[in-house]
Amino acid sequence: DGVLRDAPSYTPRPAELADLELLLSGAYAPLTGFLAEDDVASVLRRGALVDGTAWPVPVTLAVPAEVAERLDPGHAMRRLLILTDPEGAPVAAVEATELSEVRGGWFRVAGPVRRVGAPEHGAFRSLRLDPAETRELLPEGRILGVIATRPLHRPQLAQIGNAARTIGAHLLIFVPVAGPTPEGLAPEVLVRTVLAARERLPSATVVAVPLASRGDEVRDGLLRARVAANYGATHLLSTGVAVGGGIRIVVPRDLAYDNRDGQWRPMDDIPPRRRRTAMSQGEIDDLLDRGSPLPEWHTPPAVAEELRRARPPRHNRGLVLLFTGLSGAGKSTIARGVGDALAESGERTVTTLDGDVVRRMLSAGLGFSAEDRDRNIRRIGFVAAEVARHGGIALCAPIAPYARTRAEVRAMVRAVGGDFVLVHVATPLEVCEERDRKGLYAKARAGQVPAFTGVTDPYEVPTDADLTLDTSKLTVDEAVDTVLDHLVAGGWLDA
Ligand code: ADP
Repeated sequence: DGVLRDAPSYTPRPAELADLELLLSGAYAPLTGFLAEDDVASVLRRGALVDGTAWPVPVTLAVPAEVAERLDPGHAMRRLLILTDPEGAPVAAVEATELSEVRGGWFRVAGPVRRVGAPEHGAFRSLRLDPAETRELLPEGRILGVIATRPLHRPQLAQIGNAARTIGAHLLIFVPVAGPTPEGLAPEVLVRTVLAARERLPSATVVAVPLASRGDEVRDGLLRARVAANYGATHLLSTGVAVGGGIRIVVPRDLAYDNRDGQWRPMDDIPPRRRRTAMSQGEIDDLLDRGSPLPEWHTPPAVAEELRRARPPRHNRGLVLLFTGLSGAGKSTIARGVGDALAESGERTVTTLDGDVVRRMLSAGLGFSAEDRDRNIRRIGFVAAEVARHGGIALCAPIAPYARTRAEVRAMVRAVGGDFVLVHVATPLEVCEERDRKGLYAKARAGQVPAFTGVTDPYEVPTDADLTLDTSKLTVDEAVDTVLDHLVAGGWLDA
């Protein structure tokens, strides 16, 4: 206990926490901990651990130097590392058997893990069953595993139902909840869509697992097969390559909708003029964006309702406008104009996060170093994303000189189901300096303002702007109208 209390603690990154959960639950059996360097190399080279056990992906943990410094695998009393969740509650202890530097100041910690404290699972706790609990629930006989990485529409439901009936299997549906779906839906939304589709399936057990894609189809397929087998699946529905691991792959057939009787059946069994193929993600998103209902021939109404709530029509959806550009470019002026127009129309609720006001309120005390600028933008991004989460519009007008930070804000907003519009106020430096509204350029040239964007600090010109405005060629009204037109054209505002 003394060792536990004195052990350093660390909050792993989300992907590592997801792996940790799978290690602790037995979903990654026979792995019992984070892999050592020779195992990592062996897995990458030949898909097996050093001892020959087939294993498809590296499962590793990296910690910063200040944590690594407090560990010594050679010392019984200095071997333990406590891993905590993002709130700081202990989740597990790693017994470090190896410590190796991987990149500038980061070290990999290998070693077995064990749970400390009760598992905490957040939303849909009742679905977070571990393999042993799940196997208890499953009936005898064949179990067909299905990894539901996306919402289940009628074509997928028919494929799953057909496959289960064909082999006479009970269904075990895995819902990956380690992060958003490929189309950007939050994991809770994915779970709700799967539960909404459940009544359209033969008998099924549903479990939520923090299983993430590694971006490699073959390795992902092998890992899924391994996890499914550990949960008790005898078969796995998968378009992927054949895999070992004690599980048989069932390849789904290509289905189409038969206009003659409203059933989904193998494409080749329907005359071409009588069939409709599944909608693409783009077509589905487009209907949702416009607020058009998803057709019943394609999507069960209960699933459509969950998707409609998660991706409301554009004119009700949260939106963040980030105006970026040099000081004096016109960001605040244009944002104010857009805000006034929105206030007059009353269509949407608006929060303005203007550069100078934010620096007085949210970011009081921060300076203009690269680090502080990033902190400032992240705070703005956080608040703006919360506004978007609740369906409002946030107008942000910081300089936001760095591309990476702007991309982070975009991702934060997307992660909560909001839309993001980057407006580059691309007024040339000479014009901004000429205006010198706040007298800052003169001071910067005189060396009185350190790290001034455009003068002594870089401005990274956006390559991903949705709108570019050069205010040396536009009046204020024209600039504001260009932004409003963009919002109407995109469907965020009514004409
Ligand atoms: P920023 O927020 O980018 O630092 P401000 O909006 O505070 O810039 O200042 C921009 C200055 O440029 C204001 O004095 C504004 O009146 C002037 N200006 C001239 N033409 C325009 C235009 N077309 N759009 C926006 N501002 C303009």
